[in-house]
Amino acid sequence: MFAMCMQCQAELGHPSFEPFWAEYFDQGVAYLECSRGHKTAFLVQSQKFEVLLESGANALLEGFTFEACAAFSAALERFYEFSLHVMCIARDMPEELFQKMFTEMTRQSERQLGAFMMLHAIELGEAYKPDKHVVEFRNGVIHKGIIPNLEEATKFCSAVYEIIAKLFERLSGKYSEQIRKLVRHELHQKRKSVSTDVAVGTSTGTMFFNISQTGKPKAFDEALDSFRTARAVVGGAVPILRNIYEKIRGLKN
Ligand SMILES: [Zn+2]
Repeated sequence: MFAMCMQCQAELGHPSFEPFWAEYFDQGVAYLECSRGHKTAFLVQSQKFEVLLESGANALLEGFTFEACAAFSAALERFYEFSLHVMCIARDMPEELFQKMFTEMTRQSERQLGAFMMLHAIELGEAYKPDKHVVEFRNGVIHKGIIPNLEEATKFCSAVYEIIAKLFERLSGKYSEQIRKLVRHELHQKRKSVSTDVAVGTSTGTMFFNISQTGKPKAFDEALDSFRTARAVVGGAVPILRNIYEKIRGLKN
């Protein structure tokens, strides 16, 4: 993700303009060390499924169809987990109990889907029907290593996105407080993983799909177009910022 040093900004009274691509992986924490030696850990607020969707959108825009479909498939599974977690919070299940229960299903996505389907029926009063084509296509990619063409991959990613967007809209309408609680809890867990001598910042994280944005999620084509534009804007700004940063540094030296 794109980042700048907040500590420089606090000391200088203006941005340092030194741009960074800060890397983050499964733990959702991006570390940055600026040229003046400040260390910052950015806690990425996004849920795992949002990060996987963004990873998949990046792959799709670059033409890596297999990687895009694998990431969107994983995003859907992590979205079921997110939904389960939210609905268990709504039932006042203690976090420790949820973790103990979920540990027994982490290795089997079918168990997770079953649990999701049951809670979906109880909480939303409707039977959830997994999309047969999505399941078959996903199995072809994941189990047989099929590399789809761009059109097939786009169709699949779009179908997965629409499932997530539609379900998220329902969940956020009913459980906005529980979603906020889960996001706060996960930020707290991420914060605990950072050593105390490092400054901590929070990033809203992903651009392609972001649950902190209010209103109805965008349609897939629109979300992908906006993401393509946002990527280009940020990517284009980095060399300009670097130029400004180097000029300022030159003036000071
Ligand atoms: Zn700094």
